[in-house]
Amino acid sequence: MRRLVNRGLQMLLLATSIILIVAGCSSEGKVDGKLNITTTTGMIADIAKEVGGPYVHVIALMGSGIDPHLYQVSQGDIRKLDNADIIFYNGLHLEGKMVNMFEKLEKKKTTVAVSSALDPSQLMKDEGQGEDAYDPHIWFDVKMWMSAVEVVKNTLIEKDNLNKLYYEQQAAAYLEKLTDLDHYIHQQVKLIPEQQRILVTAHDAFGYFGRAYGITVTGLQGMNTMAEFGSRDISTLRDFLVENQIKAVFVESSVSPKAMESVIDGARILKHDVSLGGELFSDAMGEEGTPEGTYIGMVKHNIDTLVNALR
Ligand SMILES: [Zn+2]
Repeated sequence: MRRLVNRGLQMLLLATSIILIVAGCSSEGKVDGKLNITTTTGMIADIAKEVGGPYVHVIALMGSGIDPHLYQVSQGDIRKLDNADIIFYNGLHLEGKMVNMFEKLEKKKTTVAVSSALDPSQLMKDEGQGEDAYDPHIWFDVKMWMSAVEVVKNTLIEKDNLNKLYYEQQAAAYLEKLTDLDHYIHQQVKLIPEQQRILVTAHDAFGYFGRAYGITVTGLQGMNTMAEFGSRDISTLRDFLVENQIKAVFVESSVSPKAMESVIDGARILKHDVSLGGELFSDAMGEEGTPEGTYIGMVKHNIDTLVNALR
């Protein structure tokens, strides 16, 4: 009898430990039951926070004012990537110096490019950079960025099916806000006289923005800030400003304003007065806790700055 009780107890203990092991596996890597998400840019982190809410812990490697084209990971970043349950990056070579690392990480853990759902036919080519080189600045066409929200949502559901309904509801609510944002930009652009709808800025981050909202875009530096530019680029841009009687040019928070200042000086010598229209957020959002520290706030800041300077 006593042996039977012991045996029963043993079975119970075994069953309990199996349940514990299984439960342990399903929450592997989670701290406080939350999914650890590490992203490259703040714009991607913003999506993960919006969709994941209380079920995720999100870290962005690249803060305000950081240029992703030139970004190199630190020792601390490697820890953040190692600790992550999911890594989201932009892809399309935005994170130019991290490409090899992502390829390695993909073999170890869920590592997803948020641009992965876009069809190449939707993408703009990065001319002169080879057949498969595309413009990575997809977040400036709000409709395209909505596909990044879908990618994040689907990945969260795959990793954490228990909270599927929550992720779906959050994504739907955020997509609705983005639809409103898209309408807002279209409305605001109408306030700029048609011949003034020209955006001159430090580097070609606004190609998709121009295509989506009917603005001609010229950058001083090309799509990638790694590329060199010389005095010839500055004088070409200066002549473009004079010819098109452009009132204002813009600097970017993540790119040095020096070159753009020499373009303005050059135009003044030719008796064409160009003002600095303000600072745009291109490849990084504003400081955390400010309105521009979110994706929606950053895009609104840009379109409002543009309209104020060009209308
Ligand atoms: Zn860029």
